[in-house]
Amino acid sequence: MTTVTLQNLRKEFDDVVAVNGIDLEINHGEFLVIVGPSGCGKSTTLRLLAGLESTTDGRIEMNGQDVTTVEPKDRNVAMVFQNYALYPHMTGRRNITFGMKSSGDFTDEEIDRRVTEAADTLDIADLLDRKPDAMSGGERQRVALGRAIVRDPDAFLMDEPLSNLDAKLRIQMRAELARLHSTLETTTVYVTHDQTEAMTLGERVVVMNDGQIMQVDEPQVLYDFPANRFVAEFIGDPAMNMIPVEIQDGRAVHETFEIPLPSGTDQLKSNQNGVGDVQVIDGQRAILGIRPEDLHLSDAQTDGQLPTINAEVNVREPLGDSLLLHCSIGSTSCNIQAEPRTQVTAGETVSVTYDPARLHLFDAETG
Ligand code: ADP
Repeated sequence: MTTVTLQNLRKEFDDVVAVNGIDLEINHGEFLVIVGPSGCGKSTTLRLLAGLESTTDGRIEMNGQDVTTVEPKDRNVAMVFQNYALYPHMTGRRNITFGMKSSGDFTDEEIDRRVTEAADTLDIADLLDRKPDAMSGGERQRVALGRAIVRDPDAFLMDEPLSNLDAKLRIQMRAELARLHSTLETTTVYVTHDQTEAMTLGERVVVMNDGQIMQVDEPQVLYDFPANRFVAEFIGDPAMNMIPVEIQDGRAVHETFEIPLPSGTDQLKSNQNGVGDVQVIDGQRAILGIRPEDLHLSDAQTDGQLPTINAEVNVREPLGDSLLLHCSIGSTSCNIQAEPRTQVTAGETVSVTYDPARLHLFDAETG
């Protein structure tokens, strides 16, 4: 049973606040992903968990035990790094067994048994006698994973482990990691700047910005109910459109259109955490958020009842499985993700409709 609790965790480097008061509960067996832009404090959070950095303030518990000042080697966690951190002069086998051998806690038979098991799980038997310079990037990362799993740790801490792989291999290794997790069910904390990786791997995803947690939720909940503008713009590719409006008499008024806010505007205001509420009062400036795939080119024949917005198409980008239209709504830029073979040309003005239930509203000042 490994639960990990972070309480008011804080880390300063001189005048930089890398981690600014984080509270987080990581469940036993969970695959938790921490995602956010470069420099937001993801790696530092992971390194604090591993004991590789000392805390400035706050507390880390594993299984109810305070480990805040416990040495890394006594935490029983295994780190997997972006650069693999393999010893170049050692074979795959030596790299995998080195930690176990030097701890003195394992018999040779036990070490052999664990290496065979890890080699089976990761399909790396043929890498055991090779040195890292005779392995591809993906093979090195497999060996690095082998080194982590033979220790049978309470938790895996993974810092951008797929970042050095090319796009195709990254997708393959992503599926591999998911499979490994469903086999081993070891608590895993995984750091990435890549929102696709976060969404596909995470049972829950923590979105960080500026040393703080913006939202913790299951991937689909993050996508459907972003707690604030930062999460809304960070999660989703292409990003959510952000359209400045003013609230007037239950309507969102833009320079070129006005649309009614759906009845029960409460749905717009927040997710179930109640974060990011927008006061819907007359004269309030707000940001209307709508995802590119939630805007639809309107067909006057069938959409007569729905409010429409006019958009001028600036650039059309055929993406194969969809057509991305870069548009202007007055002075506001806006993307529409349309059906792949839609007949529309740059310079054309299109009529756009939307599902009212898929609108988001954010505070113009605080996001
Ligand atoms: P991320 O992993 O999200 O890219 P980091 O946790 O590496 O972010 O860094 C968070 C902030 O802390 C950044 O501003 C970074 O420059 C700073 N930082 C990280 N490690 C150190 C260090 N050892 N010394 C000084 N500043 C650091």
